[in-house]
Amino acid sequence: MAAVLRGSRYLVGRCCRHVDFVLVSSRSMASKTPVGFIGLGNMGNPMAKNLLKHGYPLIATDVFPESCKEVQELGAQIVDNPAEVADKADRIITMLPSSPNVIDVYTGPNGILKKVKKGSLLIDSSTIDPSVSKEMAAAADKMGAVFMDAPVSGGVGAASSGKLTFMVGGAEEEFTAAKELLSCMGANVVYCGQVGTGQAAKICNNMLLAIGMIGTSETMNLGIRLGLDPKLLAKILNMSSGRCWSSDTYNPVPGVMEGVPSGNNYQGGFGTQLMAKDLGLAQNTATNTKTPVPLGSLAHQMYRMMCARGYANKDFSSVFQFLREEEGQ
Ligand code: NAD
Repeated sequence: MAAVLRGSRYLVGRCCRHVDFVLVSSRSMASKTPVGFIGLGNMGNPMAKNLLKHGYPLIATDVFPESCKEVQELGAQIVDNPAEVADKADRIITMLPSSPNVIDVYTGPNGILKKVKKGSLLIDSSTIDPSVSKEMAAAADKMGAVFMDAPVSGGVGAASSGKLTFMVGGAEEEFTAAKELLSCMGANVVYCGQVGTGQAAKICNNMLLAIGMIGTSETMNLGIRLGLDPKLLAKILNMSSGRCWSSDTYNPVPGVMEGVPSGNNYQGGFGTQLMAKDLGLAQNTATNTKTPVPLGSLAHQMYRMMCARGYANKDFSSVFQFLREEEGQ
């Protein structure tokens, strides 16, 4: 029986006599069948490596062939485009920069949906507009496939150590199958609700993170201007009510902490451009839901200004440097 089930996926549905019938998904029974991976950038590359480490054969692609080299050397099969990935794997993870890339990779001329197999599980871990996740889910559903959004919290370090947090939206009955793969790359895999709710959680977190980082940066800068030693000020904040992640784990002032981008000329980490994108997503969703987000709007404008002034590829904690450069003008 198991051998018969392995070959195809049986759908969950309701028969004409209104008796529920549940048939088994082959995906969870064939855990080491190939997994597809599309988008091998800063995050996707270490995530894909963790899947390989867990013994999953990988079928991967990226528009930049250079990005595929490392996983290819570790045994991944590299193919030309997303449609080819879908032809060879019935579980696929995508990790792409933004909404237009996701639309292209799923619905473009060489997109996943051109060759997707019925019953495939498609997990998108990019941070994108929740409405695009819903569109992709509807398009996948038409082809008999399941789409889930599973954006991540945690940067490149967490991606490398397999300690990401995944926020998952989609059909609850598919969560177990998604978790099997996501657990290889993350320490926390949290079910959020219907498709798009993973993105909603991610966007809310990043809006708060951006506001907190700007607040920490201007506070630290003011304290320094008032003659306080930055390390001492950080220590006091971190034992007081102003403490937050940006002050105690990712301090933006060079020299206050080791092992964070501020100590490395703001290289690595989470790019200002990506933060500006996430704040733009927060703005769109706030407008659509008529939700007031005054500080989120201001944070969005600041990160956009930073992108225009050459900070796009620096870590988002470089807002401290940006404020310093604005001083006295
Ligand atoms: P990245 O730009 O480094 O990587 C994206 C990869 O996708 C690139 O290699 C690019 O070539 C590839 N790509 C783009 N279009 C493609 C296409 N049509 N077909 C195939 N490949 C394509 O970005 P990243 O830092 O890895 O981030 C990916 C996502 O994760 C983003 O949505 C980002 O907001 C989110 N995220 C990033 C971080 C971080 O710290 N970098 C943290 C949390 C979430």
